[in-house]
Amino acid sequence: MPTAAHVLSHLGNAARGVTLREYGLSRRMLATAVRDGSIIHVRNGVFALPTAPHGVITAAQHGGALTCSGALRAHGVWTLDEDADPHVWLGAHGRSHHVDCACTGHYFEGRTLFGVAPLEDALVHVYLCRGDEAFFASLESALRLRLVGAAGRARIRSRLPAKAHWLVDLARTDADSGLESLLRLRLHLLGILLECQVEIPSVGRVDFVIDGLLILEADGAGNHEDAAHRHRDLMRDAEASRRGFETLRFDYAMIVHDWPIVAEAIAAAVARLHERS
Ligand SMILES: [Zn+2]
Ligand SMILES: [Zn+2]
Repeated sequence: MPTAAHVLSHLGNAARGVTLREYGLSRRMLATAVRDGSIIHVRNGVFALPTAPHGVITAAQHGGALTCSGALRAHGVWTLDEDADPHVWLGAHGRSHHVDCACTGHYFEGRTLFGVAPLEDALVHVYLCRGDEAFFASLESALRLRLVGAAGRARIRSRLPAKAHWLVDLARTDADSGLESLLRLRLHLLGILLECQVEIPSVGRVDFVIDGLLILEADGAGNHEDAAHRHRDLMRDAEASRRGFETLRFDYAMIVHDWPIVAEAIAAAVARLHERS
C-alpha cells in the first residue's frame, strides 16, 4: 500500500482528497498523514506535500495549479522574468478560492489540476500571459534541455494562435542562454542575422556575430570588472578590429531594459559596415 506522500508525489505534489481516495487512501489514512506531517491539508478537500515547489501550496489554496513562470522554473526551464505572485491555473471553469490575495488567476482551457502545470501547458500559458519574448526564451530553454521534443513542439504550435506559429518555427534546440534567445528574436524582427558563440582566429570565441561583420559581446556582471579581464577584452577588440570587425559591448541590463539604445547602436554599425563593403 503506497503512502499518502507517495501518491501525492506521483500526482505532482498536490491533489484533491477525492483523487487520493481513488488510490486506496482512506479519510483516516489522510488524517494520520496530516497529523504526522508527511502531507499538508491545504484547504477543504485539497492536500499537498510539504516539499512541493515554491508556489504550489499557495496555488492549491487559491484553487488550482501553479503555472506561467513559477511552473516553468519548477520544471527547470529558464524564464525571462519571475512572477511576483503565483499564477494559478484554475481550468476553464474552475472556482477560485482567493482570500485577499494578489495572485493572478488564469481560466485557460483544461480541467482544474493541482500541483505544477505540465510543461507544455505552462509554455502555452506563458505565451498567453506574457507574450512573444517570454514564451520564445522559455521554449528555447526547454528545447535545449530536451524537455520538449519534436512532437511536443508540434503540439505547442497547434495550441497557439496562428500569429504565434512563427515563434515556434524560429526556435532552435541549441540556444546557449536566455539572453541569446532574446537577442536572436529581437534582431530577427529587425531583419538582422545573429550567429552565436563564433570562433574567430586569433581573437577567440565571441558571444555573437551580426551579419558576419559585427561582434557583439554581452558582458555579464562580475567577470569583466577586474583589470586583467579588461585588458584581455581590449586586446581582443584590437585584434578583431585588425581583422575588419567592429565590436560593440553591452551589458545584460542594457540589452534587456534599454533595448532601443542597443538596437539603434547595432543598426547604425551594420549600416556603416554595409556602406564600406
Ligand atoms: Zn488568489
Ligand atoms: Zn500568467
